[in-house]
Formats: sequence, structure tokens, C-alpha cells
Amino acid sequence: MNIYDFDLAALGDLLKTWDEPAYRAKQIWQGLYQHLYNSPEQFTNLPGTLRQKLAENLSFSPIQVKLFQDSSDGQTRKTLFELPDRHLIEAVLMRYDPNTNSGKGRRTLCISTQAGCAMGCVFCATGQMGFSRHLTSGEIVAQVMYYARALKEEQQAVTNIVFMGMGEPFHNYENSMAAIDRLNDADGYNFGARRFTISTVGLVPQIRKFADEKRQVNLAISLHAADDAERLAIMPVNKRYKIDDVIQACRYYVEKTHRRVTFEWALISGVNDTPEVARRLASRLKGLLCHVNAIPLNPTTGFDGQATDRQRAMIFKETLEQAGIECTIRMRRGIDIQAGCGQLAGAPAV
Ligand code: SAH
Ligand code: SF4
Repeated sequence: MNIYDFDLAALGDLLKTWDEPAYRAKQIWQGLYQHLYNSPEQFTNLPGTLRQKLAENLSFSPIQVKLFQDSSDGQTRKTLFELPDRHLIEAVLMRYDPNTNSGKGRRTLCISTQAGCAMGCVFCATGQMGFSRHLTSGEIVAQVMYYARALKEEQQAVTNIVFMGMGEPFHNYENSMAAIDRLNDADGYNFGARRFTISTVGLVPQIRKFADEKRQVNLAISLHAADDAERLAIMPVNKRYKIDDVIQACRYYVEKTHRRVTFEWALISGVNDTPEVARRLASRLKGLLCHVNAIPLNPTTGFDGQATDRQRAMIFKETLEQAGIECTIRMRRGIDIQAGCGQLAGAPAV
């Protein structure tokens, strides 16, 4: 059993079966999430017999580092982890220079929720590899704790967590939410809800459920097309959930939470980057509290679409803005180590 799969109550139940006093659960919890311990010996406030039991019954290293790679500018690190059943996943840390533009020392961690992905978006390396399995909540949490420990050695901390690595978080809804709850716990890691972002391909029932739960977590929707036929050509999920249904679910989300929705848009040259597409998108999003986050397509082996150049990207942005929809063009990051959006495939870059 992975220690990070336990919430505080489950840890309490386990300790009860070992005839340990209830307060020990809190001590273990604080050791894990406040002190960032990752081996039983570090829990020096526990009796030796209990440390022994922890070591014998629980795994403190449920994901093993196989490799890490740094981008040439040193700002992005991608780590490849192996799960106990040999599946591979990746997580990416992006550092933003405190002295430049808007990032101001942000340390954004991009984590995976599944090994592979079942959604099959044609432009995405994870989609191209197919689905292996859901991650447990503890396997999701363990990615964060790994980077939290690494940054602590430099007297730094993770400032933002995005569910934008491998997999579709709303396909693995319960485990993704359980991971957020565990990391958000005020007596534990205490990571603020507003510093998480969940990105989804647009699973409508889950968007509505998420809205009903009124979480303060940011929501991003991968849209990439303003027309159903065009979206279906690159995103099989559109067969099931049409653009209108997705946008209606987003309107419901805004109504419930009063929070702004982000629409993600990978700019593919000649496919979804024309001023005409921008105008169609703007008319669909009219009146919705939202903004568009566009990024020139990152290259993947299974898709031959080309990235939009800077000049056309700026025209796309201006066209949207003239129609009243805010848009930012994101910088591409970590492309040299295949750590960019949609490039994670659980294999080292060569
Ligand atoms: N499954 C979720 C989250 C992971 S993907 C989702 O699809 O939203 C994170 C983001 O990267 C998504 O917006 C996705 O559409 C985008 N993406 C996928 N492949 C890409 C590529 N080749 N270039 C740029 N963005 C890509
Ligand atoms: Fe899955 Fe997201 Fe990639 Fe689509 S873009 S295949 S939903 S990980």
C-alpha cells in the first residue's frame, strides 16, 4: 500500500487496527506533508516499533525516478517515474525567472493523472499512445511530494499545480479530486485551492459535477476548434460532447462558482488559426466569463500539423480581443526535452 493513498481518516483507521493511539495518525500526516519525510526512519517522534510497522506495511516510494532531464535554459525539468506495475508517467516543473515578465518566481508543477489517455486527441503524444490505467490518488500526490522535496533543498516551494500532464483528469475524477483534497488539507501540505488548475478535454457531466461541488480550483477546457466537424477531426471526444454542450456546461460552472473559465487552444497552422475561426470562436464565447489561452502547437511524432508562427498568432489574439474575448499567447516551454504541452508520452526524449 502506498502511504500517499491514505487520507487522514483512513490513516487513523489503519492505526486503530494496529492498536496505536489516534494522535499518531496526525503525527504521521504532519511528517509526510509538513516535514516532507519520505522514509519511516525520519519519523523520530514515533516509537521504533511503529516505524518498523510502517516500513513493513507501507510504501513510501510508490513512484521511482527513472530519469530527469533539464531544458537547455535550465528552467524546465521533466521527471520520468516508474509505477509499481512498470507503467511510466511524467511530471514537469517550470520555473519562472523572478526578474522577467509576469511569472515572478512562480514554480509551476504539471502532473499526470493517468498512464496514457483514452481520449485520442490526434495532436497529443499521450493520446497517440493510448490508455494504460488510471493513477491512484496517492500516485498523483506522490508526484507533488517528490518535487516539493527537491525544491525544499533549494529553500523553494511549488507555487502552482496544474493537472495538465499525461491523462484526462475528469476521466479519473474521484482520484484527481481526492489528490487535491489531500494536498489542500490545512494540517498537511496546505496547498491553496486557487493555486490548482484542472484541465479537461471537456467531459460535460464531470464539468457540471465539478461546478456543483463549488471548488475554488481553476478550470481549463481544451477546445481547439470552433466548429463541431473541425473539432471532431482532431478530438474524438467531440462525437460524444458537442461544443455547444461543453460551453453550456461552462456557463453553468461560471453561474455556480463565479469563476473565470480558461479555454486552451493549440494553434495549428492553417487549421484553427485564421481570423475567421477567431471570430467564430468569439461569437460562441460571447457573454461567458472566460479567456483564451493559445499556444503554438508543440511537435509530436504522430501528427504532422505545423505550429502557427508568431505573427499569425498575434493576429488570432487581436481578432479575438476586438470581438471582446481576452486572449494570451503562451510561451512554448521545454520543447527541447519534449516536456511541452501534449508532448508527454512516458518515454525519455532522445
Ligand atoms: N487531458 C487534459 C489535460 C492534459 S493535456 C486536456 O486535454 O485538457 C494539457 C493541454 O495540452 C491541453 O490543453 C491539450 O489540449 C494541450 N495539448 C495537447 N497536445 C498539444 C500539442 N501538441 N501542442 C500544444 N498543446 C497540446
Ligand atoms: Fe488526453 Fe488531454 Fe492528450 Fe487529449 S490532449 S489525448 S485529453 S491528455
